[in-house]
Amino acid sequence: MLQLGEHRLRMVSGGDFRLDGGAMHGVVPKTIWSRLVGCDEHNRVTYSTNCLVVDTPGGERVLVETGNGDKFSAKERAIYGIEQQGCLLRALAAESIAPESIDVVIMTHLHFDHVGGAVRRDDGGALAPVFPRARHVVQRRELEDALHPHERNRASYLIENIEPLLAAGRLEAVDGEVEVARGVTVVPTPGHTQGHQSVRIDGGGDGGGGGAGGGRRALFLGDVVPTAVHVRLPFIMAYDLDVVATLESKRAVLAQAIDEDWLVLFGHDKRHGARLGRDDKGAPMVRELVDI
Ligand SMILES: [Zn+2]
Repeated sequence: MLQLGEHRLRMVSGGDFRLDGGAMHGVVPKTIWSRLVGCDEHNRVTYSTNCLVVDTPGGERVLVETGNGDKFSAKERAIYGIEQQGCLLRALAAESIAPESIDVVIMTHLHFDHVGGAVRRDDGGALAPVFPRARHVVQRRELEDALHPHERNRASYLIENIEPLLAAGRLEAVDGEVEVARGVTVVPTPGHTQGHQSVRIDGGGDGGGGGAGGGRRALFLGDVVPTAVHVRLPFIMAYDLDVVATLESKRAVLAQAIDEDWLVLFGHDKRHGARLGRDDKGAPMVRELVDI
């Protein structure tokens, strides 16, 4: 838990899964990335699906990301190394957070490992929103791309995760930088997908403080920087649709985070986030890992 000014931040886990280590590190050769992260006999690296709960001073409760959810077949679970079901709801329950208490769900994008936990299959097999009161916020570009997938992104966009939110009138498309709850603002960070967004939390107020360095802002990066090793500018996932756009998004948000001492939070690292600095060549680097 972290009190960031007037906002309360808690990271909960939507569960672990495994992805190909080569795809996760793009052009970086295995001889280099394997010194930084371990992999299994199938070359897969284990990642978390980080989900952030923000309680605002206005009394709103925001959930950023929902993890993989529980709709995968046994075969799909084997492919992605998903060993446990029900992770997000269990993690929320452990924090005494009921699904009905969530006012806003923000998804950085609509890939299954970010939206899957927003839709469940009920006992009769019907699909329904997990967070029944919440509006679910994505960029309009992201929604359009998810509804019109092509061969390169089709495996990541599963209509079973999107259609039930649309049918329930719970999916809200926004354009550009928008404050969706008090001090909680979505910020476009294209590259991984064209409609990818990150989430900035402005703590405001005079009390509290953001921990080491005293910064009062946090930025949930999502998949623009999925883990701490991806703070290095050339580390860009091969999954990304536009790697140069990712590079420019990273360069811009990390520069701001360093200059203003923001806490950055990762989409898929077991360590939740970091405070950043620059190395002797001026490149962004992790100064201190932070769990909240
Ligand atoms: Zn992801």
